Amino acid sequence: MDIALKCPQCGAEVSLEEDASVFRCEFCESTLMPTGRNEVQSFFFPPKGTKEQVGKALLKALEKKMGRFEMKKASLVYAPYWRVKGLLFQHAFGRKYENTLYGGTAYDFFKEIRAVAYNRTFPAFASDGWGVFSLGLRAEAMKMWPYNKEKMGKESLVLKEDVALEEAVKMALQTPYPSGSADREKIELLKTQLIGERYSLVYFPFYCFSVVQDESERVFIVDGLSHKVVKGKLALDELEKEPRRETVPYQPLQFIPFKCANCGWDLPYRPKARIHLCRTCGRAWQEKAGHFQEVPYRVCLPDEGKRMGSFTYLPFWRLTVTIRTPGREYRNLKDFYNLFPLPRVMDQQALEKRRIRFLIPAFRIRNAAAVDRFATQMARNQPEFTEVETEEFREIRAADVWLPLGEAMEMAGLLLYSMVPKRARKIRETVKAASLQLDEKILLWLPFLGKGIFLREVNTDFAIQKNCLELD
Ligand SMILES: [Zn+2]
Ligand SMILES: [Zn+2]
Repeated sequence: MDIALKCPQCGAEVSLEEDASVFRCEFCESTLMPTGRNEVQSFFFPPKGTKEQVGKALLKALEKKMGRFEMKKASLVYAPYWRVKGLLFQHAFGRKYENTLYGGTAYDFFKEIRAVAYNRTFPAFASDGWGVFSLGLRAEAMKMWPYNKEKMGKESLVLKEDVALEEAVKMALQTPYPSGSADREKIELLKTQLIGERYSLVYFPFYCFSVVQDESERVFIVDGLSHKVVKGKLALDELEKEPRRETVPYQPLQFIPFKCANCGWDLPYRPKARIHLCRTCGRAWQEKAGHFQEVPYRVCLPDEGKRMGSFTYLPFWRLTVTIRTPGREYRNLKDFYNLFPLPRVMDQQALEKRRIRFLIPAFRIRNAAAVDRFATQMARNQPEFTEVETEEFREIRAADVWLPLGEAMEMAGLLLYSMVPKRARKIRETVKAASLQLDEKILLWLPFLGKGIFLREVNTDFAIQKNCLELD
């Protein structure tokens, strides 16, 4: 769903891709930063046709089937839907059963990770008795407009949102795991998480007609776009009595200059990035509540004598965490390897002094399973890097930062599951009961060297296939 806009510079009717965090006008080429895209925003779909036109068509259609009706009342009603868009991650642990040669069954444990694009709308209003559960596919092709009561019609009625955001998040996570051969697989643990998701509240138009025939009254609700009669219930009289909503539910789009808040130069046009790196002064910025906030970061520099320019830098959130379970706290690496044992012998005293750190890929992911494998390898091995704060970070090839910090914590929660071996039920139970506490965070850029189809992290030599991430 693209967002319909008027260009704040030239006034042309333009659109902003739903995923884009930077706006560029195709007519005047001005580049601006839309605010609030990291938060929940409200939109609406304008109806097709006026209530008079649609009402007339309805009466005509009714007359053919059921005789003459008189129009008693007609209203334009907007009903709110939650729109959720992101990446859905699911870790499934379970058993797979197989028939044996002698007629019995045998099983093996399995563990799978699945990541798919997640794109859904569902009613945010009390929709019991309604036949419209989702806006479905046709909504994907429509443009949504920033919430604007004036444009929606002063007389229109707006239904309250009865499903709070927290509830919407829960609903979004109630996605079952697709069962390939349901009776052959038994899922014992399913961990579902949405990553990089955006929530919008989208108001959809319905025409509501109250018609009379022989003194008996009937209410018809008509989809404001397709003009189909839909199943639904609305107490129009009560709705009209309710005080009109004057406040905007969730802030609309504003624009700020897309310029570095430190040096004033234009930021590079990277519409998919959520954190923008100034190539003039080297500062990184994230929009929040209408302002740019600086995001501190560090860089792992290559050895002396090697040119920065020959590397590809990938961003990671380096999170120092405490893993809490009801029975125990895991703070240092000795604790950590107690939970996730490694086969090799390690210096216990040295491990006790080091904290648990996760490196969460912050770049745009194309193949989630492959990126997960890479991140799991990093988490298991807990490498240490020499990190510096530097502004000499301008000329290099750096991937966009796509994952905001809050989402990185959710990814870290998933990583715990990634580290559980498929047969290790005890570790699985511990992880299931665990929560993560964030103690320290920094955005860290690590140098990679391209070798064939791989990118290899210079310090650890851990590799990831180039086509598993989006570099441009
Ligand atoms: Zn323009
Ligand atoms: Zn700057």
